Amino acid sequence: MPLSPEQQAEIDALRAEPRPTLRAVSDGMEAHLYRAAPVLDHGFVRVVDYMGDDAAICQAARVSYGRGTKSVSNDEGLIRYLMRHWHSTPFEMCEVKLHVKLPVFVARQWIRHRTANVNEYSARYSILDREFYIPAPDTLAAQSTTNNQGRGAVLEGEEAARVLRWLRDDADRAYDHYEAMISQDGQQGLARELARMNLPANVYTQWYWKVDLHNLLHFLRLRADAHAQYEIRVYAEAICDIVRDWVPFAYRAFEDYRLGGATLSATALDCLRRMLKGEEVTQETSGMSKGEWREFRAAID
Ligand SMILES: Cc1cc2nc3c(=O)[nH]c(=O)nc-3n(C[C@H](O)[C@H](O)[C@H](O)COP(=O)(O)OP(=O)(O)OC[C@H]3O[C@@H](n4cnc5c(N)ncnc54)[C@H](O)[C@@H]3O)c2cc1C
Repeated sequence: MPLSPEQQAEIDALRAEPRPTLRAVSDGMEAHLYRAAPVLDHGFVRVVDYMGDDAAICQAARVSYGRGTKSVSNDEGLIRYLMRHWHSTPFEMCEVKLHVKLPVFVARQWIRHRTANVNEYSARYSILDREFYIPAPDTLAAQSTTNNQGRGAVLEGEEAARVLRWLRDDADRAYDHYEAMISQDGQQGLARELARMNLPANVYTQWYWKVDLHNLLHFLRLRADAHAQYEIRVYAEAICDIVRDWVPFAYRAFEDYRLGGATLSATALDCLRRMLKGEEVTQETSGMSKGEWREFRAAID
């Protein structure tokens, strides 16, 4: 269970006390505020705070005194224009602060996104919970035969059962030893900052992660993509659901130009023009490498 009854009660108490404010609010985001969206077996993403909405993006772009809204269709058109032309700073005017609970090996990928502010749960100060990510059977897959950086067919039968057993047993044994090492029952007790090194990378950690919308969309572009590892992708997808409700115009433009769109090189664009004129272009006559050609065909077929 991602949240204990006490944690859920704290969230419910926060949501039970709405306060009037002069600040711009997004109704879609208010529905998410404080609530935890479950991810993986023990993880979650929840919005702790946010600033701005679609109108704030337009307000900054127009450098206006009021809400900046001329009309709803104008606002959406402006946001699409900004997204299309990589005019990114207006998107930086919106910010979100998330509380994320995630396995350490996912955190290692996530932390590579340097344009956020992070504060992580201290395992020097606190004792980590006995919570380990164990993949669901349908995500427990073999090494891909075509992609060195991915997985292929789902493991089956005795092999799947053995892998799951080892993952659970090893995590349990490591945690038993962690607990025994830090215990001060009849011994000095090893410092928490040292004992934690015995825990495997599927142990859960938590952090507060604050980022502006421009850099968040960059994170989502990379991590909600099919090439991202499943375990970080599901977090990105949970955040996409939040962003869609928070800034619907910006999210629609992002889906259209970034998530669903494609960038073409000058060579690829030239091939496309030749194909539109009726020429039969092949990889050999395209001027592209096999990999580029495969990606080009995947984008246009
Ligand atoms: C599918 C996938 C596979 C990956 N595989 C690997 C791998 O095998 N090994 C590995 O090490 N990493 C890997 N990465 C991580 C990747 O290389 C990036 O580090 C990560 O995606 C963060 O991207 P970013 O630097 O653009 O993001 P951010 O750190 O958020 O930066 C955003 C943008 O700010 C600018 N910026 C930020 N900091 C600097 C800086 N110090 N100098 C210059 N510009 C800066 C850049 O324009 C950057 O694009 C992988 C990522 C993905 C999505």
